Amino acid sequence: MASKKNVYFFGKGKAEGDAKMKSILGGKGANLAEMTNLGIPVPPGFTISTDVCAVYYENKNKYPKEIKDEVEAGLKRLEAVMKKKLGDPSDPLLVSVRSGAAISMPGMMDTILNLGISDKSVKGLATKTGNPRFAWDAYRRFIQMYGDVVMGVEHSKFEDALHALKKSKNIEMDTDLKASDLEKLVEEYKQIVKKNTGKDFPQAPLDQLWGAINAVFGSWMSERAITYRKLEDIRNLKGTAVNVQSMVFGNFGDDSGTGVCFSRDPSTGINEFYGEYLMNAQGEDVVAGIRTPERISTLAKKNPTIYKQLVGIKNRLEKHFKDMQDMEFTVQQGELFLLQTRNGKRAGTAAVKCAVDMVAEKLIDKTTAIMRVSPNHLDQLLHPMIDSSAQKGAKALTKGLNASPGAGTGRIVFNAKDAELWHERGEKVLLVRKDTSPEDIGGMVVSQGILTSTGGMTSHAAVVARGMGTPCVAGAKGVLVQGNTVEIGGKRFNEGDWITIDGTSGEVYEGKLPLVAPSISKDVNTFLKWCDDVRAGSVRGRIKGFAVRTNADQPDDAKRAFAFGAQGIGLCRTEHMFFDKEKLIHFRAMIIADTEDERKEQLKKILPLQQKDFYGIFKAMEGRPVTIRLLDPPLHEFVPHTEEEIGELAGHLNISPEKLHSKIGTLLESNPMLGHRGCRLAVTYPEIYDMQVEAIALAAVECVKEKIPVHPEIMIPIVVTARELRLLRPNAEKILEKVFTAAGVKIPVTIGTMIEVPRAAIRSAHIAKYADFFSFGTNDLTQMTFAFSRDDIASFLPTYLEKNVLDVDPFKTIDQDGVGGLMELAIKEGRSVKPDLKMGICGEHGGDPATIDFCYRVGLSYVSCSPFRVPLARLAGAQAVINNPGKNITGGGSGKTKPATAKVKGSKKTVKGDKKMAVTSAKKKPAAKKKTAKKTGAKKTGAKKTAKKKTAAKKTGAKKTGAKKKTGAKKTGAKKKTAAKKKPAAKKSVVL
Ligand code: ADP
Ligand code: MG
Ligand code: MG
Repeated sequence: MASKKNVYFFGKGKAEGDAKMKSILGGKGANLAEMTNLGIPVPPGFTISTDVCAVYYENKNKYPKEIKDEVEAGLKRLEAVMKKKLGDPSDPLLVSVRSGAAISMPGMMDTILNLGISDKSVKGLATKTGNPRFAWDAYRRFIQMYGDVVMGVEHSKFEDALHALKKSKNIEMDTDLKASDLEKLVEEYKQIVKKNTGKDFPQAPLDQLWGAINAVFGSWMSERAITYRKLEDIRNLKGTAVNVQSMVFGNFGDDSGTGVCFSRDPSTGINEFYGEYLMNAQGEDVVAGIRTPERISTLAKKNPTIYKQLVGIKNRLEKHFKDMQDMEFTVQQGELFLLQTRNGKRAGTAAVKCAVDMVAEKLIDKTTAIMRVSPNHLDQLLHPMIDSSAQKGAKALTKGLNASPGAGTGRIVFNAKDAELWHERGEKVLLVRKDTSPEDIGGMVVSQGILTSTGGMTSHAAVVARGMGTPCVAGAKGVLVQGNTVEIGGKRFNEGDWITIDGTSGEVYEGKLPLVAPSISKDVNTFLKWCDDVRAGSVRGRIKGFAVRTNADQPDDAKRAFAFGAQGIGLCRTEHMFFDKEKLIHFRAMIIADTEDERKEQLKKILPLQQKDFYGIFKAMEGRPVTIRLLDPPLHEFVPHTEEEIGELAGHLNISPEKLHSKIGTLLESNPMLGHRGCRLAVTYPEIYDMQVEAIALAAVECVKEKIPVHPEIMIPIVVTARELRLLRPNAEKILEKVFTAAGVKIPVTIGTMIEVPRAAIRSAHIAKYADFFSFGTNDLTQMTFAFSRDDIASFLPTYLEKNVLDVDPFKTIDQDGVGGLMELAIKEGRSVKPDLKMGICGEHGGDPATIDFCYRVGLSYVSCSPFRVPLARLAGAQAVINNPGKNITGGGSGKTKPATAKVKGSKKTVKGDKKMAVTSAKKKPAAKKKTAKKTGAKKTGAKKTAKKKTAAKKTGAKKTGAKKKTGAKKTGAKKKTAAKKKPAAKKSVVL
């Protein structure tokens, strides 16, 4: 440590540090140094490095002698430059002591100004400056700040004394206080300190200095600093630096002042000098709100010289840092000083506007522009928000999980039915529940927001709300629903009372707060197109491009997502369609049915309705791929629960409620998420999937006849073994064949599976033989890999995070090591069988930026997320491409250089070629399967198929040879053949 430099000087046009040294000088110190080197007027000073902060903690809040000496040597140097001594009774040097970590942490510690002033030096200062009012004002400010920040005396105690004095004098403005008033106030302040701490206010300059330095280092571990770092996910910082800087005085008189300014408007991004200042004021007066600051534009008239100089500096700084600057300045008797500059924090709108404008101005390139905007920025733009001035004035009642972004305000209702009833009456409602379930959909749709007391980020409420773009706060422990009242943060509310939720922050407010509408500007579109270009241009081995799809269940969702730039649908959950009233009654009847015939009867009635939904979705997507997942949830989720509903259904079915009751009883499962669901339903009741496939095929035919291009992909959920697909795939193919033949059309349809059970991930090489694509269902995969029920994690996950057992909620951001490890395995294994196997992710994670980065790295072709997250994913995907240059993907021999080159040509065709491939695979499969069918003795597949198969085989064969020639990769072809040949034999003994 001794040999290491700990103190860095800046002043008089030269600094020992620079802007690149943020990690040791902190952001503030590094930029003070940089500005000094640029010749911008900055009061001289020195920065004590962040390393010293670490030493301070290691040494039980003390410093080794050499550090103490180094700091005091820094002070000597400063005194020499300033030609004054700290606290000198006749002409004191005064300094500020300022904190500053590598990443700015607003409010970590209050700055101490005017340090060095004492009972003696205040008089010297008064005489020397000829301005006693200023001297006493500086002293009282110093006691107030030092007393609060270093000695722990409540700020309000000083404020009260100040108020009382002003009142007794009958004045409003601090600036109207005279020197003698302030002198009295100083006396009073000192007594306040004595009374509250038992200590005299320190008079020795060095005591004052070390007290302040200790306080800055001490603030690093203060509760608010720790909380802030946690909330903002700031890690791996060494500590804070301390800046000791000679004072300049904005409170010297009417020719002095202080201000804050931005090189562009931080809320709109408009390239317009923006800021505020106060004359005759110091430091925090501008933000403290006691006097109303003036807009920076008025300075142009009041002091054109300073204004011009300031504009010159802001232009220089922006050019130099190539980003919007947030600056602090002070004017002392007509002389301008810069006290800080940093890249300005900005609202979402401003982030995009600045990025787009700066590219146009050739200040930055597109890549930099893309990296400048955060996914959160974009997220902000797509949802209504609470008007920021209203939010500032309001206090949150409680805070839950920020489950679905945006703000909503409405009157409290406690169940879905009431939500619908109130909505029909034209009321705005906010649904407040312990949790929600699929039957609440109707009420959720009409609600302005959803608030639940239990459930995590992927609870039903959260998932559905995000899908609908409805704000949602979930798992809010401070919410206690009791019948028709609710306690929120200890306060009781009744049905009909107004509340407002902020799903972006998780906060819940009393009353009706004003909201501001989202806007998607031309700039946002321009910006997102750049992102699309970056993703489209990416190459990872054999994979070209990185697409963003959406999860959409209804034509409306699809349309919205398409408008947001979705390149396809990655997950269309068919069960959501059944909750539609018209379908639900038939679906329930189907579930209750005793025989296959009865079931088929009911399914027949659902078919045209579901066909209509598919038609709408295909149409909305204009030929982009649409992955439709066949029925997934356990059947009992659809059965009626209330007596009223049971009575209604019994009447409809013409059976007794008792019989219905007992029938429902048989459907109950003690662990339905691991129960009779997904493809298991189709293994037992093939007619359900048959109906769905038929509806898909018919909808596709309808579209094609209307010249609407279609690209359906059928996805089979909860597969655990290849044998399930071996059994189910031919069923689907048979129906597709039948419908298409009858209609006289040929429509390519691929059939793939979800990888969402650990076993499936492990056995994916086998599963791949029967699948045209994989889609990672990471909600279930996370649930089953962790054995965490996603609806029940609220009771322990917070503790897990708090105690660092987990870093993040694994349902929010993919667990890269565990769940991600399984994904990597599945990708590698799957592509070892089919090198071009298309793979994507459709779990809730698909809209999470960190997960998107992971998906890019491991070689997925696309991510799919809810419609409102699509723009965010378009950006996050582009950032992933930029962050991972030259990424080669895992598995499938895809990293091989030669095939990769050939690939570039081949993959150009992907979009068109996809369809072709689909035809091939649709035909190819029966071939493989047929053999299976024979073995299993299933006679269904008749002679017809054999004939077909031969044709198919020929075609496939021809294709393969072609492909082989192109890529020159013999292995691939050979491998495929072997696999195909080997399989039937192996099947007998090998468990798939
Ligand atoms: P924060 O990190 O909270 O912005 P700063 O360290 O920037 O705190 O200090 C806040 C304000 O105090 C500055 O904007 C400036 O107005 C004032 N200030 C800090 N140091 C000095 C100084 N040496 N001379 C004059 N004013 C100062
Ligand atoms: Mg500052
Ligand atoms: Mg699933």
